[in-house]
Amino acid sequence: MNLKSIALVFFAAGALSASAGRPQVVAHRGYWNAPGSAQNSIRGLIKADSIGADAVELDVWLSADSVLYVNHDPDFKGVNIEKSTSETLSQLRLDNGEPLPTLDSYLEVAKGLKPDLVVEMKTHSDPQREDIAVPMVIDMIAEKGLTDRTSYITFSRNSFDNLVAMSGRPVQFLSATEPAMLDRIGGDGADYHISVFRTNPHWFKELRDLGKTINIWTVNSAADIQYCIDHGADYITTDAPELAMELVEKSCAPRNLRIMTYNLRFGELAVMDRIASEIKAYNPDFVAIQEVDANANRTAAKTNRGLNYVSELAQRTGMFGYYGRAIDFAGGYYGIGILSRYPAEKIEKFELPNPGNEEPRVLLMGTFEMPGQKLVFASTHFDYRHHGTRKKQAQFVTEKMMESPYPAILAGDFNATNGQIYIETIKAKMKDLTNDRKTWPADVPQDKLDFIFAYPPKDFELKACIVPEPAKNTASDHLPVVSDIVVTF
Ligand code: MG
Repeated sequence: MNLKSIALVFFAAGALSASAGRPQVVAHRGYWNAPGSAQNSIRGLIKADSIGADAVELDVWLSADSVLYVNHDPDFKGVNIEKSTSETLSQLRLDNGEPLPTLDSYLEVAKGLKPDLVVEMKTHSDPQREDIAVPMVIDMIAEKGLTDRTSYITFSRNSFDNLVAMSGRPVQFLSATEPAMLDRIGGDGADYHISVFRTNPHWFKELRDLGKTINIWTVNSAADIQYCIDHGADYITTDAPELAMELVEKSCAPRNLRIMTYNLRFGELAVMDRIASEIKAYNPDFVAIQEVDANANRTAAKTNRGLNYVSELAQRTGMFGYYGRAIDFAGGYYGIGILSRYPAEKIEKFELPNPGNEEPRVLLMGTFEMPGQKLVFASTHFDYRHHGTRKKQAQFVTEKMMESPYPAILAGDFNATNGQIYIETIKAKMKDLTNDRKTWPADVPQDKLDFIFAYPPKDFELKACIVPEPAKNTASDHLPVVSDIVVTF
């Protein structure tokens, strides 16, 4: 089975593929930190189910007489599991009074419950014992009808190779290994300690770029859990599943946003108060603005010349404002901007490709901090004259959005219409969150040039798109585009 088909099976089973999204909460050794529970107990499995945990992690050993047991350490209460028979092991009691569970008894209960299973194959004293244990586990899980709900983890390279070859299920390696090396040895992904990711935060992106899933253990504090959510972990393995679920719920709940894009025609056609009140009337969360002057003595902008438009609009709308200069103009600057209800963690500006040597254009891209969630929002304005330039610009902005570790929205004036290669290049990867209403020129619209796109498409839904009716004496030569969207983090 190749990686792609594993990912498909994985997705079909309700678990996540390697992309940013809602992480799965894995109760480490079951939900043991609860009244009446114990580590790797059947009670801990039932408790995890009762709180709605996405998955339960369990550890598996093979006894001397080839019975599979669920336990973390090689020894339990001084009895070595590998060296003991089931006659001895069946006498042992967990701290909550349950017998030391066999894998069979554990799976029998798991069958009737909802959590997926993350089965850790322990590193045995002899690889040959692992060679016996791995197919036994795979067969038993299949007999119980649990194959589609199971993934595997292990520190043992021997068991890892066996599981990858035999299970047909996602297998994650527990031994911290560089992403490129992990890719060479195969499997579905990484299951590393939180300290490994804290030390190597670039591994998040490297693993994702390689199509690897990311599982992180043992993530118990609110700060560590939030770190994993913010960095797009696919699984959070935790001794505090209720806290993790609460934070995931808070951080990853669908959120309604209103997005606006508006080309301001360098403020030639209306006073700043009118432009600001038009924007404010829509009460948007994010606005991409184009043809924005800053301190430029533009003759045609009679009432607005010399003003810093972003600062003026930010102040009048009560939003945060960010400016991206494209060129120097009339003693100031000409470019684009972003207005946001939320503060930016980071703002970057990129020069767009310009093979036709046209007027320079830019992409202004920010990472914005909303409560418990981060979103990338970008504004742009494409060239309007040169085919090769716009084509390159479409490829460039699409790639930039796809590199984002967070859900990403790109809005602007693309100087292109549906059906043209520039727009179709973007739509091949991103979701169009607008309707077909024409936006330019504002009095008698002929073309739709203004769009709002989002990546990854599966995280976004368009609820409604508003384009005001054409009119004489509009505040710009473009009509604004305003979309109500739902984003799932
Ligand atoms: Mg374990």
